[in-house]
Amino acid sequence: MHITQVTSELTPLVKVGGLADVVQGLSKELVRCGHTVDIFLPKYDCIDKSVLQDLQIECPRFEVRRPEGVIANTLFSATVDRLKIFLIEPHDPSHFFKRGSVYGCPDETDRFIYFCQATLQALIHLKKTPDILHLHDWPTSLLALLFNQLNSPFKPKGVVLTIHNMHHQGKGSSDLLSRSGIPFQEKEGINLLKLGIECATQVTTVSPQYRKEIDTVEGSCGLQETILNNRSKIHGILNGIDVDFWDPANDRYVDFHYLADGTQLTQVIEGKEKNKAKLCASLGLAISANTPLVAVITRLVPQKSPELIKHALYRTLEKGGQFILLGSSPIPEIQAQFETLQRECLQGNRARIIMDNDEGLAHQIYAASDLFLIPSLFEPCGLTQLIAMRYGSVPVARVTGGLANTVFDIDSSSLPQDKRNGFTFDHPDTEGIDWALIRALDCYKNDPKKWRSLIGQGMAYDFSWRNTTPDYVHVYNLSHQLSNASLTPS
Ligand code: ADP
Repeated sequence: MHITQVTSELTPLVKVGGLADVVQGLSKELVRCGHTVDIFLPKYDCIDKSVLQDLQIECPRFEVRRPEGVIANTLFSATVDRLKIFLIEPHDPSHFFKRGSVYGCPDETDRFIYFCQATLQALIHLKKTPDILHLHDWPTSLLALLFNQLNSPFKPKGVVLTIHNMHHQGKGSSDLLSRSGIPFQEKEGINLLKLGIECATQVTTVSPQYRKEIDTVEGSCGLQETILNNRSKIHGILNGIDVDFWDPANDRYVDFHYLADGTQLTQVIEGKEKNKAKLCASLGLAISANTPLVAVITRLVPQKSPELIKHALYRTLEKGGQFILLGSSPIPEIQAQFETLQRECLQGNRARIIMDNDEGLAHQIYAASDLFLIPSLFEPCGLTQLIAMRYGSVPVARVTGGLANTVFDIDSSSLPQDKRNGFTFDHPDTEGIDWALIRALDCYKNDPKKWRSLIGQGMAYDFSWRNTTPDYVHVYNLSHQLSNASLTPS
């Protein structure tokens, strides 16, 4: 099958969150299974050009017609991590993708409407007819409508939309699309994610539990009717991780390696102790064996419960542990709060806050930490708990979305004892998090045998894309069959 992915992020070229990892990991596994994959994304000025191989101009000029005039674009092709990618560079007066960042611009919806229009033209220009066009989140979901409107033999056989996060929908005024030259007008404003859900052949969410949650008023974020009307084509498929990129036995950012399958626990524990000592030394933290190191790696946005993260930092220190947070916030007030906390931490040697986006440091923290905290208000899937477990770091997580599908409480889960892998809590408040965190810290300190089993049981889970890629292929096939069926005269 030929699958064309269209995305606003791709690891290791340009990453804001899990979306970038998912498109990379899923694409690599599809290729490994013998499928043809190519990936379209904007040629942002902030991409990491050092990872591009064989960069060349595929088409020096193709045009997008808008009411304000014709905009010329250049199409580049390259290879990233053995994946074929296409980069679109518009020569537009607004410099849509030369803003130094992926998101956060006032004309956000318009930028990505443009990207969808340009991707459509690029595909037509290349005479590409993939079997499946796979779209991700609101920035690319307009393509489902554009292909529905298109009268051309160069059409994909099916369009699949994956929802990574319902909270971002790409909204704009009712005439936003018509102003861009797309014949479509809504009465009450445009919602690109809603259009995508309505027009795609099949839709997926990034975990089975999130699939259930978007049926609710709260989880649907205002799109309950749309979800209900399209329910038969929406499927929940759990995200995976790229186990080659995230491999403690062979991680280029990590000094002391250990096997990830949970069979060599002494090696794991020794490796982690050495990584911890090295990381603590480099961050100016006290080096002390048998002191639990609690870690958080996250975007600091309301979804991730920044208040509970702060609370957990103080509680960990009070209980004699150490704490490292790697994160940054697009929200100035949250950024400022954590910068204050960062200065406070620097007065001691038991907690550090690194306000940065640092892939290498993230790997080192996964490999060094004992506990990994994810207290999210909601979490469509969450990748950090999967990576943490693979690196032998025990998750402390709120039961929501994909966390509910992957983290099982050692004391209270209904799963058999040997399938339990972490500490969970239900209520996103200080009592809830205390209940899980204090049990985890006590277990680390007082019950080394139980702790060791927990590490092993988490590591024994296989969260690789091998497990769930067949589910995507199934959805691609459904998409395909539906479109074939609609072509068959009745
Ligand atoms: P989300 O997509 O909501 O941000 P996920 O858990 O799905 O959350 O994915 C987060 C990804 O981003 C993980 O790969 C994590 O390691 C990475 N990440 C988050 N914050 C940082 C940071 N400050 N530096 C490096 N990597 C980060």
